[in-house]
Amino acid sequence: KKIRYAAVGLGRISCQHFMPGTKLGQYGEITGLVSGHPDKAAKFAAEYGVPQKNIYTYETYDQMKDNPDIDAVYIGLPNNMHAEYTIRAAQAGKHVLCEKPMANTPADCRAMIDACHKANRKLMIGYRCQLEPTFIQARKMIQDGVIGKVWAIEAANGFNIAPNEWRSDAKYAGGGPLMDVGIYSLNACRWLLQEEPKDISAHSYVDPTDPRFKGVEETIGWVMTFPSGAIATCNTTYGASQEGFTRLHGSKGVLEIFGYGYDGIHMSLRSKPAVEAPQPDMNKDPHQFLVESDYFSRCILDNKEPGPNGEEGLRDMQAIARIYAAAKKA
Ligand code: NAD
Repeated sequence: KKIRYAAVGLGRISCQHFMPGTKLGQYGEITGLVSGHPDKAAKFAAEYGVPQKNIYTYETYDQMKDNPDIDAVYIGLPNNMHAEYTIRAAQAGKHVLCEKPMANTPADCRAMIDACHKANRKLMIGYRCQLEPTFIQARKMIQDGVIGKVWAIEAANGFNIAPNEWRSDAKYAGGGPLMDVGIYSLNACRWLLQEEPKDISAHSYVDPTDPRFKGVEETIGWVMTFPSGAIATCNTTYGASQEGFTRLHGSKGVLEIFGYGYDGIHMSLRSKPAVEAPQPDMNKDPHQFLVESDYFSRCILDNKEPGPNGEEGLRDMQAIARIYAAAKKA
């Protein structure tokens, strides 16, 4: 049996990554589309063999409740729409795989969790790195003490944003690069350490003459302390092409994970005694999305709670709210 997905929002992540990944997978298929553009919907319907009756608009979305050809939705919409379309999907009896960041506020995240719980539907957030072999291997090596006690983490992830993106408009994005790409560093620190941040300090800046930014930061740097004593220093920007990495300094060595990209994530390890860093399969795009889609499908089929569930998305949003509050106060 396969889980039958409707892709909600036919933008870059849905069309270039999630749908092709699902198509290559074993446990999912694309049987529905939700779009405000009939021409775009028709094009992808032809590509994926989706019948006209399974194509919805944002207005007819709730009618999906009467459609037994759709088990779950994949939400690839601007951040401010994640909460509404997750809640409406749950109310229509569909499971939800929602892109990160989960929503624009912790209150919205909580409402999404509650709606899925009430409808007895699964909710997963698209933290593909948590299902990616290099990250999984790195977490295991940290757990096994290969680099000893982790004391310090450096992490970054950013890019130089094009003009007129919804991503740099607070109304849609809820924030700037922190919401979009800085969240990878935040999530990596929390997930690799398996701890929640204790104290948070932050600074942000936006060039006031740059018309790209509407109410969001251009650059933000933040420091998190963890109960174990580890200190993470992270930053992200929309103003420069910033290579993504997570570098963990432990009492016995340094482990570095390069990138958060789609085309394979590598690591390097310098430890005493020396241990060779495993380099798991490269996961060329859309392989990470195949793994993510199949993983969520199996959670539904086997009635298992996804690892990156709503609570996980909420914890990131709670940390993000604290980072923004700290930057505002600084
Ligand atoms: P995008 O702009 O390419 O696509 C957004 C889609 O939403 C478009 O099809 C657009 O038509 C539709 N839409 C519906 N109503 C809209 C409105 N009012 N304003 C603007 N667009 C509207 O964006 P994207 O890059 O595909 O990002 C979508 C989501 O996926 C975001 O939440 C983003 O953070 C997330 N994302 C995740 C990853 C990942 O690796 N997990 C990568 C990229 C994006």
